[in-house]
Amino acid sequence: MYDIRGLNEECGIFGVWNHERASELTYIALHSLQHRGQEGAGIVCSNNDYLFGARGMGLLTEALTNDQLVSLRDFPHAIGHVRYATTGGSELSNVQPFLFKGHKGDLGLAHNGNLVNAISIRDALEDDGAIFQTSSDSEVLAHLIRKNKSRDRKQRIKTALKQLKGAFAYVILDEDSLTIAMDDHGVRPLMLGEVDGSYCVASETCAFTAIGAEYIRDVEPGELITLSDAGIDFDRYTDKEQPNMCSMEYIYFTRADSEFRHSSVYSIRKSLGRALAEETEVDADIVIGVPDSSLAAAKGFSEATGIKQEQGLLKNRYVGRTFTASGQEARERAVRMKLSPVRDVVEGKRIFVVDDSIVRGTTSRFIVKALRRAGAKEVHMGVSSPPLKNPCYYGIDVSTHAEIIASRKSNEEIRREIDADSLTYLSVGRMHDVYHSFGSRGQCDACFTGNYPIDIEEQLLPQEKDLKTKGV
Ligand code: SF4
Repeated sequence: MYDIRGLNEECGIFGVWNHERASELTYIALHSLQHRGQEGAGIVCSNNDYLFGARGMGLLTEALTNDQLVSLRDFPHAIGHVRYATTGGSELSNVQPFLFKGHKGDLGLAHNGNLVNAISIRDALEDDGAIFQTSSDSEVLAHLIRKNKSRDRKQRIKTALKQLKGAFAYVILDEDSLTIAMDDHGVRPLMLGEVDGSYCVASETCAFTAIGAEYIRDVEPGELITLSDAGIDFDRYTDKEQPNMCSMEYIYFTRADSEFRHSSVYSIRKSLGRALAEETEVDADIVIGVPDSSLAAAKGFSEATGIKQEQGLLKNRYVGRTFTASGQEARERAVRMKLSPVRDVVEGKRIFVVDDSIVRGTTSRFIVKALRRAGAKEVHMGVSSPPLKNPCYYGIDVSTHAEIIASRKSNEEIRREIDADSLTYLSVGRMHDVYHSFGSRGQCDACFTGNYPIDIEEQLLPQEKDLKTKGV
């Protein structure tokens, strides 16, 4: 669903090569990745002869009809995509996977992430005669691949990928192969798995659980993996490698049962909660996690402090997609519909609320107010991530500077605005300590620190506010 706090994932991708139920597995996998995007979904399949696809707007169950799924049934290779738009408008032409037909063969493509030099590449390609079908940044790769004259398919893809800057996890399908590519910073997650002897790839391992696949390992920055009837080929498209996995994936976006480097996100979040406890000097009667993404951090906080964790807030899981919550009043109404305090649990208590992030402050303000109304004596707020201060250009729709409360206000000002008795954030240093303890090779923390690991193309900066309407 659209997130009322102003944080939205961009996309989820999946691919499988040589499986007799390829499209069915893709559908099931996309269903488990639905939290990464709800604006559109699609599947493109190959039968070694040609590519065929279906896509639609909305949740997966709305986007693809039974008839469409039946028409995809006999294809042994497939890629799929669920989308939340950060660049490109919200329209069917931007729903992936894209499918391009040409005399050199067909090409299907699905992308998670955001390219930061797509505007200049697109301008140059258009000046050279290219006609784009979509307003999505993802399409430039297809043009770059097609433009290359090399007879070697892998070389064409490598040369094209080298021209891209930004965050990308791509699955590229043609008649003979499925190519998996990760940018040299490895910003977005991508996992390799195996199902019934066939290789598959997914944004998160929860997709593997759903289809009964075994999780093999994370795809590494700069890696290029090709699946074909000849087997699996491991290669790189670049020698450069500077791991900067998105910190917000661990904190908020990824499902708690998914894994990074064979550690569950649940365990990582619990450790973030423990680290927050080490940096907090508050006494309380109970700890409450904001459902669902903060429950693991609240558990860690509770274990570290010995303060009992209770379910003091309930989440209504059936708030529909129609509540897109634009505008302050609508956002407040959406939070009220979504979260509700349990009076018996909170009445007369000093409460420590653990949340994973504060974007605009709307949710936090509502939570504090609702808990006080339900009889809480004190309401302290702890955030299991550092203050979120900067927009993201790498595939997460973290609002603009103007909407992010911590980019304008000090911690004390935020505390006053949300009316909490105290407010504690996790420090950047402790956050990194936690990630390193789980085997992280390097994290992007730009939305907390402003240190962007990949230079942003200048045209993107002034367009920060209207990327969604203009597209790339
Ligand atoms: S800026 Fe923040 S949300 Fe964007 S990739 Fe970096 S850590 Fe993730």
